[in-house]
Amino acid sequence: MKMTIVYDNEVWKKGLKADWGFSCLVEIERRKLLFDTGADGGILLYNMERLGINSRNIDAVFLSHNHWDHTGGLQSLLGIKPDMRIYMPDFSSRPKEFLPDLITTGILGDMEQSLIIKTSKGLVVIGGCSHPGLENILNIARKQGRIYAVLGGFHGFDKFDTLQDVSLILPCHCTQYKQRIMKLYPKRAIRCGAGRIIEIP
Ligand SMILES: [Zn+2]
Ligand SMILES: [Zn+2]
Repeated sequence: MKMTIVYDNEVWKKGLKADWGFSCLVEIERRKLLFDTGADGGILLYNMERLGINSRNIDAVFLSHNHWDHTGGLQSLLGIKPDMRIYMPDFSSRPKEFLPDLITTGILGDMEQSLIIKTSKGLVVIGGCSHPGLENILNIARKQGRIYAVLGGFHGFDKFDTLQDVSLILPCHCTQYKQRIMKLYPKRAIRCGAGRIIEIP
């Protein structure tokens, strides 16, 4: 299982573009799911090309919430692959396994869904902006099993204690307290940025 940060406010790999927004490619068992699409289709496709990702090979898009910095690249992707499957936040507030090993938390707060991925090491949780509160998203995920990693935009999240049992933390995008989190969890929190790749065997 492999995750590649495609779009972020910061850059990890030289040659990629940073921009306000978030997108992460999840590759699991030959399936490719794009979590959010960033703000700008041009930048999204540019970064993908630089990372050797063929947008035609993406099977589906998962949209966390309807904010421009997460949906902005969608039109460009649909221009390339009009029949792309899109998992939008529907009106269900229940967790649901919509593809094997891929679970949506269902809608929380003001129409945001987060993604839970089952891996050999435990669950990986990806949040777009985590507007409903990362601690609430983690609580839902914990009902599905042990959380191994969490990444994405954590917004104003400051309940840092709730990360205590998480092995890998990537505060990305709009996370207000990136430095605090890195300082509190120096061994487990790592810098996020476009081009960063996380692999879980
Ligand atoms: Zn955002
Ligand atoms: Zn947002």
